[in-house]
Amino acid sequence: LKFTKLRLQGFKSFVDPTDLIINDGLTGVVGPNGCGKSNLLEALRWVMGENRPTAMRGGGMEDVIFAGASSRPAKNFAEVSLLLDNSDRLAPQGFNETDGVEIVRRITRDVGSAYKANGKDVRARDIQMLFADASTGAHSPALVRQGQISELINAKPKARRRILEEAAGISGLYQRRHEAELKLKAAEGNLERVDDVIDQLA
Ligand code: ATP
Repeated sequence: LKFTKLRLQGFKSFVDPTDLIINDGLTGVVGPNGCGKSNLLEALRWVMGENRPTAMRGGGMEDVIFAGASSRPAKNFAEVSLLLDNSDRLAPQGFNETDGVEIVRRITRDVGSAYKANGKDVRARDIQMLFADASTGAHSPALVRQGQISELINAKPKARRRILEEAAGISGLYQRRHEAELKLKAAEGNLERVDDVIDQLA
């Protein structure tokens, strides 16, 4: 799944609608300090389902919304759209009906975040799973933050293993196993409760 276009609106310093075309090959973003280079990477991570404010260099999730500048009032929402090339039809089920998949995430003040895939409402989990299966996503090692290389060198073996697992494309399976374990635990709890009820009846 290739990224072909990123569109930002009201996201951090990108107050007006801004399109970034992502062509084949290596994409470099250059500019003076503070012009918004890191904000672009954050937008990419955010539209793929990032939910940790710290990863977005903010205190709360709404901090991604344009907060206003001396000449412009604050915005009420932030929206990022990511266009994926699906011409080889490799997208997972549910996303695979068209040659291109458009993922949109929008956050509105006091309302929260909502996602759409090709215009249809979807859950955060669906989006996170789509990218986990495609071996990319908000935590993808392909997106290298400032300071991340030294973090990696100093990382514990377990943390380093996660990165290799991500590269091997099995993170989606881990997430599913975790969800299955939670369901199993809930089912075990229910069974115990049924046993209690049976004991009381006996
Ligand atoms: P560096 O090279 O220092 O990392 P950069 O080019 O990557 O810089 P960013 O750190 O991405 O730049 O951009 C920071 C800019 O975005 C700052 O000017 C900051 O004021 C602005 N900014 C961040 N969040 C918001 C927000 N919610 N509303 C308005 N402006 C914001």
